[in-house]
Amino acid sequence: MLDDFLGATLAGTRAAGEHGLGARGTVRWQWLDEGVLLLEPAQVSEATRSVLLSAGVHGDETAPIELLSKIVADIAAGRLALACRVLVVLGNVAAMRAATRYQDDDLNRLFGGRHARVPQSREAPRAVALEAAAQRFFAGASTAPGARWHLDMHTAIRASAFEQFALLPYIDNATGAAPARAMFEWLADARIAAVLIHTEKGATYSSFTADHCGAMACTLELGKVRPFGENDLARFAHADAAVRRLVAGTTKEPAPMPRVFTVIGQITKQSDAFALHVAADVPNFTPFARGTVLAEDGAYRYVVAHDEERIVFPNPTVKPGLRAGLLVVETTDATLAALV
Ligand SMILES: [Zn+2]
Repeated sequence: MLDDFLGATLAGTRAAGEHGLGARGTVRWQWLDEGVLLLEPAQVSEATRSVLLSAGVHGDETAPIELLSKIVADIAAGRLALACRVLVVLGNVAAMRAATRYQDDDLNRLFGGRHARVPQSREAPRAVALEAAAQRFFAGASTAPGARWHLDMHTAIRASAFEQFALLPYIDNATGAAPARAMFEWLADARIAAVLIHTEKGATYSSFTADHCGAMACTLELGKVRPFGENDLARFAHADAAVRRLVAGTTKEPAPMPRVFTVIGQITKQSDAFALHVAADVPNFTPFARGTVLAEDGAYRYVVAHDEERIVFPNPTVKPGLRAGLLVVETTDATLAALV
């Protein structure tokens, strides 16, 4: 089963609780739920890191799913050393089987209890199950600084000025903690070109683990979507290698830090009269100069107020009242200077 975790998950024939030993007895594994696999080294101590690796939260984002399945096979066969506890999660298995992003609702908008608003949704019980799986996994994790990680791997729908980028969730705490240097060094190791820092709470899987599990969490956008078997995994080689170094506890390669962008505003669709004045397929992180009118809707206008603002995830087809795009400004120097 571990030699083809993706195939076993898609077949849907495994029983929860099934467990065994891999890599000549040095790795304990347990099948916890459909597409949820716990891997632990034989010896676990207070210093052992706990790393949640997820993919397929959007069912058609196939490359990271294949990448994770290969990592499981390599750990099980002893080709990749396992130096930390790992929970491997294939997110929306039903959507993966249907080769679609989701069935009823975007699973990555349902975390942090948001699933309770759509109880009829076929994604709601999966959000509940994945929240519980993360909480159980991190309940058994070290509380030492830097011991808890969550990397949620995605591929983007649209082009981007930075092909591979990461989204860091907003962390709501009394001290207003700055982002962790360990995470930025890992992102550099993965050759992630840009990092977007959210300034409001989200409903993504990485927001949930940051907020409820004390994890250093991020969402990784690793390039464009293709069907299973048609991905050029070489394009994901740096991220793959960095995940493997994290899992094996081996030394990172020195690499330049990513550029950093912080959310400073959003375009909100007010009504069906909404007009977005950028091309529907404009690449993520496209810059606009001060004074540019990006959207209009009756009396509402979004005008660029900083010297330069960049648009991310523009989508004029959302329902009125919802976000039709995010605006970010570059904060590389200040953010990197403040890492803890
Ligand atoms: Zn995605």
